[in-house]
Amino acid sequence: HAKADGRGTFRFFEPAMDEQLHARRLLEADLRKAMANGEFELHYQPQINLKANEITGFETLLRWHHPERGPIPPSEFIPVAEDTGLLSTLGEWILEQACREAAGWPRNIHVAVNLSPVQFRSRGLVQSVSRALAVSGLAPERLELEITESVLLQDNEATLSMLHQLRRLGVRIAMDDFGTGYSSLSYLRSFPFDKIKIDQSFVREMSQRADCAAIVQSVASLGANLGMPTVAEGIETEDQLRRIEAAGCTDAQGYYFGRPRPARDLVHTLAALRQPTEVA
Ligand code: C2E
Ligand code: MG
Ligand code: MG
Ligand code: MG
Repeated sequence: HAKADGRGTFRFFEPAMDEQLHARRLLEADLRKAMANGEFELHYQPQINLKANEITGFETLLRWHHPERGPIPPSEFIPVAEDTGLLSTLGEWILEQACREAAGWPRNIHVAVNLSPVQFRSRGLVQSVSRALAVSGLAPERLELEITESVLLQDNEATLSMLHQLRRLGVRIAMDDFGTGYSSLSYLRSFPFDKIKIDQSFVREMSQRADCAAIVQSVASLGANLGMPTVAEGIETEDQLRRIEAAGCTDAQGYYFGRPRPARDLVHTLAALRQPTEVA
């Protein structure tokens, strides 16, 4: 309870802040143990080429199943992993695991892996990627790395040089959550991405807001002019699908096509994909 003395206001806020800090420390401690306890799992969400109406690849999405709290969303624990340095180990595990899993998929199917800006700040990223490719035997062109504009905000030569080194390994680079950061256009000039992913916030509001529809359309034609495929994220309805197709997006991803699932649940989906090539 706040007291009527000079420090009252501080006292009023203290317990809440203490609690937040405490919760954060607990999460940190649990995260440290999670890796060793095998509490992380990778889920994969299909990406669809609209022209062929076929799955072309899957995006890897990290899941943490906390022993007491159950599933905890990446938005809650990834920032903590980034701040505590845990993400470097975790990031290497994700890369290697995703590449190993994808190596068993049909050869025309790619796997996309999200990279945190923190991974770009450490020197070892290029080495981690090439090691993951080597141990898994996955062809480099089947690995796609998703980065956000915040990676390029760190700007500088070092980041660009890393992107070029990754490209030289033969992997593809996709710009994720396009449109949510700053100066997106200048980034497209400083580095040639292989793909642009339009953030789901624009897709979600396309039907209600003309400006969002206009943005999606502009990005799609920008992509077309630069020779970059454009993926619309977060497609949940047929109406949204029709709108992004009309806008000129080349690819799509979202619950409408499939939710992120563990690799073992993809067996039938992958078998169905494999069929046409084997029959032919
Ligand atoms: P993102 O890379 O933009 O991933 C797309 C997010 O949208 C995922 O959330 C996915 O589950 C969700 N999503 C897909 N389709 C739909 C849809 O139709 N509707 C809605 N409402 N959502 C959809 P998720 O898995 O919670 O991941 C959130 C963010 O956490 C990711 O955004 C990414 O930035 C980060 N993240 C996830 N996994 C990893 C990882 O392995 N490494 C790193 N560094 N970051 C990751
Ligand atoms: Mg992504
Ligand atoms: Mg995204
Ligand atoms: Mg995102």
